[in-house]
Amino acid sequence: MAQVVVIGGGVGGCATALTARKAGCQVEIIERMDSLSGLGPWTGQLLGWILRQEAKLMDGGTSDIIQLMESLAIHTKPEFDVPKGNVTFDVTRIEEGTRKLIEEAGIKVRYRSRVADVEMAGNQMVAALLEDGTQIKADAFVDATGRTGGVEWCEKLGQGCVQCMLKCTIFGDRVSIAAKAGVPDREENWNYFPMPFIAMESLSGEMRGRIEGTPGGYSYHSIPGELLERDFTSEWRRSDRPVTTRIKGKQEGKLEVVHVPFAKCTLNLPLQWWRHITGFENAWLVQPLSADGETVGTGFCAQREDTMRVKGLANLFAGGLRSGRFSAFVEVMMAGDLAGHNAARHALGMEPLPYPSSIMAGFFFNEVNSGCTPNDWIGLGLEDPRFKAKGFSTTDYGKIRERVVTSGWLGALGRKLS
Ligand SMILES: Cc1cc2nc3c(=O)[nH]c(=O)nc-3n(C[C@H](O)[C@H](O)[C@H](O)COP(=O)(O)OP(=O)(O)OC[C@H]3O[C@@H](n4cnc5c(N)ncnc54)[C@H](O)[C@@H]3O)c2cc1C
Repeated sequence: MAQVVVIGGGVGGCATALTARKAGCQVEIIERMDSLSGLGPWTGQLLGWILRQEAKLMDGGTSDIIQLMESLAIHTKPEFDVPKGNVTFDVTRIEEGTRKLIEEAGIKVRYRSRVADVEMAGNQMVAALLEDGTQIKADAFVDATGRTGGVEWCEKLGQGCVQCMLKCTIFGDRVSIAAKAGVPDREENWNYFPMPFIAMESLSGEMRGRIEGTPGGYSYHSIPGELLERDFTSEWRRSDRPVTTRIKGKQEGKLEVVHVPFAKCTLNLPLQWWRHITGFENAWLVQPLSADGETVGTGFCAQREDTMRVKGLANLFAGGLRSGRFSAFVEVMMAGDLAGHNAARHALGMEPLPYPSSIMAGFFFNEVNSGCTPNDWIGLGLEDPRFKAKGFSTTDYGKIRERVVTSGWLGALGRKLS
């Protein structure tokens, strides 16, 4: 049976693996940690409603993981969401659910196995080499190692290691597989992912009551003016490299506190600043990531074709965050779907395909590849003029379905390739 090896078992790598498996390949995930789903348990909101419908209609691995996340919904907030139907899910269950999907699909996982190097023969990747020298061969490989960390970069561009979910000090830094294969990563801008998880018990009784008493367990509050005036970017800046920050709270002048089941906020502040906010006087963090510390991410994009194949190489594809300047789950996983599908196609002697440009996924992934402004695709709002201009902005499921049907991709990622 044709063999596909996926390096990195984050949600991007898991979607990749599931899709390659659906296409009929024997699939193995190599993961440096002792768990699957990478950064997933740190996050919590499923965005991108239109892309989500397309992913489900195409039926790759993303469809399975989206349905899992939706089944773990804590609440939906249609009144705040763009375009509608964003889902805040229980992050504590995502690893377990993803692992079950992978096991049920018959995908082998090699845990605690960091790929340190690759073996090449011309433009063909022959094997992934683990730190202990173990050689893992396959017909096609997918680099799904994410873009976050390791310690070296968090020290150079951030404020040092915050001992985040990726646990680099235990399992070793991430490795860019495409770069090891001879294709240097693209120079990207950097940003930080601020997302404080605050212990509910450390909030004032009144604040807890407001969050827990709100249907769905969330609450919006005003941000004190003096905090809004702070220049967060320069406060966080450590090096001469330009950094950008994504602070929804600052932009919108409001503070979103969600109970998931800790309090998670879209505004990152150093702890001593939090304590200026009424109700947060004794705030304490359940996750070290936040308040004066953040992971460094979004660099290290692999150079790829629209098919997700790494430029200049025959059998290495890029999936998940590695595939471009986007960061939300749905894009990350759909990039994985295409990488997994095309890795399978290659392994079975077929030419890889791009997503059709007549659906939003095709327009989006090809546009990102051709180089739009970094970070301006986050959230994939229905109001985005680029989507409007192309006629993609709709909440009409029937229209979305029709586009996928007309493109010929209905169920295309869920079918076994002959
Ligand atoms: C704090 C935070 C909050 C976020 N919130 C949201 C949100 O609310 N909604 C949303 O849509 N998105 C959110 N995101 C973004 C989203 O979580 C990520 O884009 C997504 O999880 C990335 O998945 P990935 O699999 O591509 O990469 P990663 O999760 O980084 O996974 C990469 C995997 O590769 C493994 N790996 C790396 N190198 C090697 C190697 N050499 N050998 C073997 N394995 C290796 C790593 O251990 C890891 O498991 C958030 C991100 C962060 C950090």
